[in-house]
Amino acid sequence: MNWQSMKIEEVLKNLNTDIDKGLDANEVKKRQRIYGKNLIEEEREINFFKKIIEQFSDFMVITLFIAAGISFIVSVVNKNNDYIDSIIILLIVFINAIIGITQEKNAEKAINSLKKLSETPIKVLRSGIEQRVISENIVPGDILLLETGDLICADARLIKTQKLKTEESALTGESLSVSKNENTIFDEKTPIYKIKNMIFSSSFVTSGRSIAVVTATGMKTQVGKIAKLINKNSTPPTPLQTQLNETGKMLSMATMIICCIVFILGLIQKADILEIFMIAVSLAVAAIPEGLPFVVTLALASGVKRMAKKNAIIRKPNSVEALGNANVICTDKTGTLTQNKMSVIEIRNIKGIINDNDAKEIINCSVLCNNAKQKISCISGEPTEKALLEKAIELNISKNSLEKEMPRIKEIPFDSSRKIMTTVHKTKNRFITITKGAPDFLLELCTKYKKGEQVFNLSKNSLKDIKNNYEIMASRALRVLAMAYKETTIENTNENNFTFLGLVGIADPIRSGARKAVRLCKEAHVKPVMITGDHILTAKAVARELEIIKKDSEAISGSQLDKIGQKDLEKNIFSYSLFARVLPEHKMRIVKAFQSRNAIVIMTGDGVNDGPALKAANIGCAMGISGTDVAKSVSDMVLTDDNFSTIVETICQGRGIYENIKKTIHFLLSTNIGEIVVIFCACLFHLPAPLLAIHLLWINFVTDSFPALALGMDPIESNIIKTKPSDPSQKILSGTMGLNIMTEGLGIGITAIIVFIIGSNLFDNYPLEPIVGRTMAFVSLGLSQLIHAFNVRSKKSIFKTGILTNKKLVAAVIFCAILQIIVTLIPVLNTIFKTVNLDFPQWCIVLAATTIPIIISEIEKFAIRNKYA
Ligand code: ATP
Repeated sequence: MNWQSMKIEEVLKNLNTDIDKGLDANEVKKRQRIYGKNLIEEEREINFFKKIIEQFSDFMVITLFIAAGISFIVSVVNKNNDYIDSIIILLIVFINAIIGITQEKNAEKAINSLKKLSETPIKVLRSGIEQRVISENIVPGDILLLETGDLICADARLIKTQKLKTEESALTGESLSVSKNENTIFDEKTPIYKIKNMIFSSSFVTSGRSIAVVTATGMKTQVGKIAKLINKNSTPPTPLQTQLNETGKMLSMATMIICCIVFILGLIQKADILEIFMIAVSLAVAAIPEGLPFVVTLALASGVKRMAKKNAIIRKPNSVEALGNANVICTDKTGTLTQNKMSVIEIRNIKGIINDNDAKEIINCSVLCNNAKQKISCISGEPTEKALLEKAIELNISKNSLEKEMPRIKEIPFDSSRKIMTTVHKTKNRFITITKGAPDFLLELCTKYKKGEQVFNLSKNSLKDIKNNYEIMASRALRVLAMAYKETTIENTNENNFTFLGLVGIADPIRSGARKAVRLCKEAHVKPVMITGDHILTAKAVARELEIIKKDSEAISGSQLDKIGQKDLEKNIFSYSLFARVLPEHKMRIVKAFQSRNAIVIMTGDGVNDGPALKAANIGCAMGISGTDVAKSVSDMVLTDDNFSTIVETICQGRGIYENIKKTIHFLLSTNIGEIVVIFCACLFHLPAPLLAIHLLWINFVTDSFPALALGMDPIESNIIKTKPSDPSQKILSGTMGLNIMTEGLGIGITAIIVFIIGSNLFDNYPLEPIVGRTMAFVSLGLSQLIHAFNVRSKKSIFKTGILTNKKLVAAVIFCAILQIIVTLIPVLNTIFKTVNLDFPQWCIVLAATTIPIIISEIEKFAIRNKYA
């Protein structure tokens, strides 16, 4: 249907809906059955089998399959029983793939359900009552009540508008806001970007308000029709993931070279070609850390879950890593550092404080030019406006009676760039225009002032008097609003020639815990920066109390900022901790300036105009309670409690997760190197293979993977906040971590080879297969790697960190140790794994060997502690 060409009445009739009541519950249910959910179907989920194929399309895994196939055919031809080997190898790889896929799916699910949490329900009129409904339940015929910052979730025909502007870039590519109104009719061939009497799904309200009726939902909307054309945004890899991919490639190359050498040496030594080929391929598969990027994803996903419990919803899991590295937090004041529970505590006119009786006219104006609503049980609205209405109620002034006497006929809404709001009211024979807002902005529009019943011209001296009063209030941390009005005979929306009435001082107490969080921030080497739309004196008073600033020179106002060039700002940016009376565009300059000095910036925001700054920051953080849909939709993280302390907590979590990822990398790489060392040394010294292909794969895919996953979820160390944020440009394997991985890998590998030499010399009868030696090497390598998982948990001694602090790791290690031991105990497994039941002396040697990684790691930790002590 061509809704744009119809009159409003026709639209409503066709949609069978009532503008004053909306749909009722039964009708909504009926329509939901007919039209389905209001969802844009994204690309169908890649199905399970496709995912399995993806897992097996890895080059190394394919090679392993081919190798296992060759081994199978040769053993069938030779009529020996060795084909069991190939079957088991395939089974291990297969089970590993299934575990991988299910975990990936779980991670995806967790993230998707968290995304839903950050959505704000849409305001609609149903059964005559304003209600909030989640967007997927909207149906054609629903009456939408839209205001600045709302996301538009369906196509709709406008019914009433007040200075409505929307941004439709998702649909039209045009990022400038377009004005919309209900009046004009457009013919059916009008292109979408020219249709002004309709609004479209996936755009948002940049200013004004509107009532609209939904005409299409889900795939029937304009954006639904082109959904298939829109590329889904794929998340770019994090710096750490990129680094890991590079490191992985490097290690793969090195492993391949080593495998070739092993194979060639085996040929020279006239070993069984098939056996040495299988060992070389398995070593490559086992030692190449292709699972690392995946471990990172899982650790990030578990972090995302943990943060949701702490009131932070991470919309883009990759930003967890950046959170750990963040070193500047640019935060709003109102609601984040303060409680956003505002109350009027002082009213002044030009001469100073006035009592409630004299303040009645000011209060009357403040409730007329006010969108807060008085309901039976509560007052709803924006906190500043609620405070004004509460004051009126305290003085027995009824907003409803005032509005009956002087109905509002026009509104120019408040926005944080203009910092004022204006309404026009009609009385019997006149019009009254009322404006309220930041005094420094509003006084420029006034030409007179009122004292008592008399009106005077606003001279320089009187302006000075008003300013004095205003500064007294602001320096006591009060938010100050000026009130002004003008009377006209015809309707007048021009914001000029006002008569100043008075100043209202609103208190907003500091949040409990905010001061502690600021202190914690400093201890964490993160610079707290306050950015506020409030006056510099109000802001300074709050910032001093919170210890964000100590000296006046650390504060700067938006107008001073305008006089500084970007280069100078960049040079001095770290000397500022407070930006006051800023406009949204200043936020962008501030982010850029910090980033030019290599800072990783968290920026909070709530309004429509904060979008660009939220996007530009390394982590855009929207407010869950007071934030607009738009701010939330572009942010990386949403705070469900709007609290500054939560941001500091997320930094802690981010750092902990980064550390956990590093621990997992440390563990996997050092154990892989251990395996390479065993095989390589054996080749170099002409020893028979100390481990068979199946042993290598077992250790890697079974005994290593569970502890690695548990390490990714290690509890966060309590003093993590006191460590310095890591520098993302620094290579992860540079410095001590790389060295530790090498020494520990060497230690683990050499120990296993020594166990093999002792075992095969003492307990095997040459020239038979060194079966006891192999079993001992296999078990000691498996167990020592398990023990090693506890070493990598902390830079502190294992005896200080305690073993039981990560219960998942304990469970994983015990489970894997049991599996490892079972392989030697059960006769069937003995046949499959070519192992034997070890006797007491053999077990003693194996267990003694498993303590070696602890000794090496403790020596290392001791050396590092003393070096940096
Ligand atoms: P912060 O950045 O600390 O959260 P803010 O974003 O609330 O502050 P703005 O919304 O830009 O800051 O408000 C700045 C000034 O605008 C206030 O100091 C006040 O004087 C004025 N103001 C705030 N709300 C209104 C309103 N609803 N109507 C008129 N003026 C207002």
